[in-house]
Amino acid sequence: MAATGGNADPLIVRQLEFLGGMASAAGWRPETTLPEIAFAGRSNVGKSSLLNALLRRKSAARVSRTPGRTREINFFRVNDAFILVDLPGYGYARVAKERRAEWRPLIEGYLNQSSTLKGLVLLLDSRREPSDDDRAMLEFLAERETPVLVAITKMDKFGNDAGRERVQAIAAALDLDADQVVPVSARTGLGRDDLAAALMDLITSREGTG
Ligand code: GDP
Repeated sequence: MAATGGNADPLIVRQLEFLGGMASAAGWRPETTLPEIAFAGRSNVGKSSLLNALLRRKSAARVSRTPGRTREINFFRVNDAFILVDLPGYGYARVAKERRAEWRPLIEGYLNQSSTLKGLVLLLDSRREPSDDDRAMLEFLAERETPVLVAITKMDKFGNDAGRERVQAIAAALDLDADQVVPVSARTGLGRDDLAAALMDLITSREGTG
């Protein structure tokens, strides 16, 4: 598990600006100047809730949920320090098959043209087995050598021991390093600062896919 980032809040959001949405693989995206960190996960994994907890705001998730924006990639500038990239939730079982496949060209298009991308946070629901889409995403990122953090969401659903076991099982199933994995709960705030610290480490690292 990622180490705690000390006592100080590793991410104090002083400024948050919505820059716009990218709707297709060849579509508009903001200029690549600042480092970028992307968030991905299947629909309902708890991404909006986690972003709210991370930023201590409700506005990011609210924008991303505006009708018409739920299937776009939404860009937010945080503190003039980095761009937070909210990728559309994928693999929602209730939408038609053709639409399920829509996310791939868009997300892959984004990933292929993001020279300042420092890393991606993949969210996995602690109560579910990783899906084929989750594995495909991890494989794609490994091929591109994009650093990945895995946030395991809704940890409040488990007690301490069961939670630890669950996290270890998911990490083992996906062959993840312990320091890539951050258990979180938007409901209790668990892991918020660990995730923020791990993100800031990625953003300030000289590695990346640029
Ligand atoms: P998104 O579709 O990935 O943006 O997911 P949401 O943030 O909208 O959350 C999906 C569902 O999971 C909602 O019913 C949330 O209330 C619930 N949820 C989100 N985060 C947590 C959490 O930390 N703990 C629990 N128990 N439920 C959560």
